[in-house]
Amino acid sequence: MVDKVLLAEPRGFCAGVEMAIKALTWMVRIFEPPVYCYHEIVHNASVVGSFERAGVVFVDDIDEVPPGAPVMLSAHGSAPEVVAAAGARSAVMVDAVCPLVTKVHHEVKRMAAKGFDIIYVGHEGHDEALGTVAQAPSSVTLVDPADGLGEYRAGSEGVALVAQTTLGLYEWQGVLEQAAGRFPGLWTARKSDLCYATTNRQAAVEVLASRSDVVLVVGSENSSNTQALVRVARSAGCEAHRVDGPASIDPAWLADASVVGITAGASAPDQSVRAVIEAVGPTGGVERVAVTREGEYFPPPPQLRALIGTLQALVEGAVTARRPGMPGPLDDDRAWDAAGALDLLGA
Ligand code: SF4
Repeated sequence: MVDKVLLAEPRGFCAGVEMAIKALTWMVRIFEPPVYCYHEIVHNASVVGSFERAGVVFVDDIDEVPPGAPVMLSAHGSAPEVVAAAGARSAVMVDAVCPLVTKVHHEVKRMAAKGFDIIYVGHEGHDEALGTVAQAPSSVTLVDPADGLGEYRAGSEGVALVAQTTLGLYEWQGVLEQAAGRFPGLWTARKSDLCYATTNRQAAVEVLASRSDVVLVVGSENSSNTQALVRVARSAGCEAHRVDGPASIDPAWLADASVVGITAGASAPDQSVRAVIEAVGPTGGVERVAVTREGEYFPPPPQLRALIGTLQALVEGAVTARRPGMPGPLDDDRAWDAAGALDLLGA
């Protein structure tokens, strides 16, 4: 019998995911379906399912988008060729890349232009890694944090170390120490490329791990930051499992657990978290464990702002009238959030 749930704060949606979900919601409110989205808008099966039911078609190749159809590019960031192809193919292209991923893109381009060899610490095949490496493919070598630098040798004197935004902090630090020892004068971003949402959620799960018998991390299997939370909890010595929702909880995990820690990856909706808490059913209630407060906010992508500005009359007239219930984000985008957007979709 579980006595208590410790609930991490912060957990779940970050500012980049909020921005991307709201932007795609705008797209399905403005255009008749189908609206196309290159790659999963965020890596969460329930969010993706909500958009699919609302008429979004997710594609892994821009050639699958019919010419002229509206298309959005995912929060993970896309290769320059993909952005160019989407812009050329579609009448309306909105790039929902997170600004903190864009920052890493800029670092890669800047250091490549200076002639540096760039080591990118990330997970092969992940959408964010694909988009970042593609910014300067001939200058970048991808290194998996689990493997470390291995036999890597730089071809030039200048070496830069950049990272996927969602790595485990200890994974990044391991490669950083290795690289700093091997390459004197190594360039890295002053504050690392791990984003605030990643580091805050990892700090919170560490506290949970120190006080819980088991930690449950809500999020999808292909969510890098979710998987990092599981690894961080385990490396802190606590049993930890990723769950999509209540159905993936194995009762055996909770059989001897008195205190269960619960958190969520940056793309997991709080609806899923609430369902997991209910399934765990703590007899003694829920205690919130807060390590910090987050106030980050990212405005809608510039192409969407321009589109909405151009279509203002249409949006406020015909479109909103046809699909009532849209909040008023034209004037105050902060007045609604991604959870409200998913509610609007009927998620
Ligand atoms: S996890 Fe970080 S980098 Fe990724 S979308 Fe959220 S804020 Fe942006």
